[in-house]
Amino acid sequence: MAARAARAADLAGLDGAVSDCFACPRLVTWREEVARVKRAAFRDQDYWGRPVPGLGPQDARIAILGLAPAAHGGNRTGRIFTGDRSGDVLFAALHRAGLANQPTSVSADDGLTLRDTRIFAAVRCAPPDNKPTPDERDTCAPWLHREVGLIRPTLRVVVALGAFAWAAWWPVLRQVYGQRPPTPRPVFGHGAHWSGESVPALLGCYHVSQQNTFTGRLTPAMLDDVFTRAKDLAGVD
Ligand code: SF4
Repeated sequence: MAARAARAADLAGLDGAVSDCFACPRLVTWREEVARVKRAAFRDQDYWGRPVPGLGPQDARIAILGLAPAAHGGNRTGRIFTGDRSGDVLFAALHRAGLANQPTSVSADDGLTLRDTRIFAAVRCAPPDNKPTPDERDTCAPWLHREVGLIRPTLRVVVALGAFAWAAWWPVLRQVYGQRPPTPRPVFGHGAHWSGESVPALLGCYHVSQQNTFTGRLTPAMLDDVFTRAKDLAGVD
């Protein structure tokens, strides 16, 4: 699997290859089971039920790193943060920031496009309870590393959504940029900011999960602040 990721010559090749990955038995079983059983509200739809590739242009200067696809969101629609409440919040914020052409993301063919921004997840398959294991994170890492490598020429800022994504970033420094991660590792927090020499800056942002947005732990204004900062750091107008 790592060899297949490394062989991907561009994002289209990577997206195609990752969609056909079966490396994690527990996640393969889960994603297919969810796609078969479905949620009642979506019972007439064909679920994607496979790994969910990243979204956004090759020349992205900002990356948004999430945890993993949602069982009835990305795992249903085949597009990351699409068809669930988390995506509603995220894409509304990206639209306000001028990084998305529309404020909603409901299906893979709804016309959504991103500007200067690529979104991907540390783990590409929906996990039970939204909790991938450390082994699954490590198994999936080559896909993330290759994706960052492909957008490396333009990438300036990474927004990590939550502590899991924040932790998944450090191995990228070694694998993609040939740099030793800082020790001790900077602690995740909303608004946390780390920068190093000749590598993208890292910004921490609470995850756009319902748990955070429904309780007011993460507000639209807080997201707007993060994306304003990301644009400033990346030199995006
Ligand atoms: S989580 Fe990643 S490595 Fe595991 S099966 Fe899905 S795409 Fe493959």
